[in-house]
Amino acid sequence: MSSKLVILHIDGVSANTLRKALDDGDMPHLRRLMETEGYELHRYRCGLPSTTPFAQAGIIYGDNSEIPSFRWWDRERGVLVQFGASSTFKKVADKYFGGCKPLTRDGACIAACYPGEAADDFGIAYQDRSYGRQPKSRSAAKVLAPYLANPIHLGDWVWQTAAVFSRTAKDYFVARAEGRHPAAPYVAMDLGEEIFVHHLTRYAVIKAMHEGYSPIYAGFYAFDETAHAFGPTDPSALRVLKHVDHTIAKVAGARKGRYELLILSDHGHIETIPFRASSGKAFGAVLAGLLPGYHVKEAHGDEYGSAEKEAIGHLTATMSGGAAHVYFTDEARRMSHRELTARFPQLSDTLAKLPQVAMLMLRDGEQDVFVTARGEVRGQAIKPFLASYDEPDVLYEQLARLNSFHSAGDVVVLSAFVDGKQVNFENQAGGHGSIGGEQLHPFVLARKEWGLDLSRVRGAHELHPVLVDLRDRLASRPRPG
Ligand SMILES: [Zn+2]
Repeated sequence: MSSKLVILHIDGVSANTLRKALDDGDMPHLRRLMETEGYELHRYRCGLPSTTPFAQAGIIYGDNSEIPSFRWWDRERGVLVQFGASSTFKKVADKYFGGCKPLTRDGACIAACYPGEAADDFGIAYQDRSYGRQPKSRSAAKVLAPYLANPIHLGDWVWQTAAVFSRTAKDYFVARAEGRHPAAPYVAMDLGEEIFVHHLTRYAVIKAMHEGYSPIYAGFYAFDETAHAFGPTDPSALRVLKHVDHTIAKVAGARKGRYELLILSDHGHIETIPFRASSGKAFGAVLAGLLPGYHVKEAHGDEYGSAEKEAIGHLTATMSGGAAHVYFTDEARRMSHRELTARFPQLSDTLAKLPQVAMLMLRDGEQDVFVTARGEVRGQAIKPFLASYDEPDVLYEQLARLNSFHSAGDVVVLSAFVDGKQVNFENQAGGHGSIGGEQLHPFVLARKEWGLDLSRVRGAHELHPVLVDLRDRLASRPRPG
């Protein structure tokens, strides 16, 4: 019988994290669903950067080119593009996704980074705590009022938020007492809000199923937020997976034989240590020290060096986990390695020799230039160095693709692992966005009978055609008899 499709996006959960949660009994509902309905766990590759705006664009539109990071500098428009609470993507959105056939076209796209040509988004956008911005968006009142009017929802939310709040506060103080440094900005309030939005999103998904939309795509971000604050292996992050498990059970229970359910993540998460904690200085301060007379701005951070108006030049560093893009913002196009070395002969070598830095990525015409502490190599010659991070052939291809983006920084800096943790350019205990470990290996949970083959997927944009094909196959399944 023809089926509609609902896809749950569980942000930041790597395939290994999910496997472990299932094995440890932390997700009993999901485990039962897998056993009784023949689901299998696929480990796929999200590509680079391993961050939500990139991976989700790939999944929804099949095109994530020119999305080099969570934040970047658009040289042409002179705009700092960013997602999250004060998203500026709309200022450049017209440059993206032309000619794409989105996975969510005419369906419902809830709490995603992009509208995905959906018929409805139920008023909830990705970390954009405002409602009703998209033309096809519902107003806040239309979603919130019926949600809050139901005492069961309200009780559920208040109880769970209070529980998360108190446990998180306890975790925070225990971590502090043990000499660890959880990322304070993410703690408590943010998590309470995450759980609220999580519940609201779940409510919207079930409402969209009642109203018969297909496909439905919905993003859940509480695990990712908690993993940034405490690290992905911390008990608080694993506790959030229990909420996720509960949500999966609720959505599975609402299928009523009309919907098929697929669950996926966009990237993984690894344990990290903030750059400042490792080096004693902010990354922006290091850059300002290397470029006297320059004004250095950390996107989402502080400013360093000369005052903006008096400076001889301007730099913006956009940071996302273990990757930083450095832009000379006075330039109208990406500087080549040759130009950069002519103007700043010591810059790339000095940066590459920092203990917090693994390698720099620059470009000369069509050629990729990599600089490590051992010196400069071009093209495939970097592969032996990559072997300690992942499969070198795949990783090289992923890096070269990112380096081909015009929107990439003049210098792309990838951080090193120090004492088993990746240096994070943001103030986070867990992170993603770069290379190394589970951040590059998210999951797809699908029924075996669908026969999905994700072994050749080397980036989230290559998952798109597989999901579009599944959506269409389910929709056209012949009715029995
Ligand atoms: Zn994240």
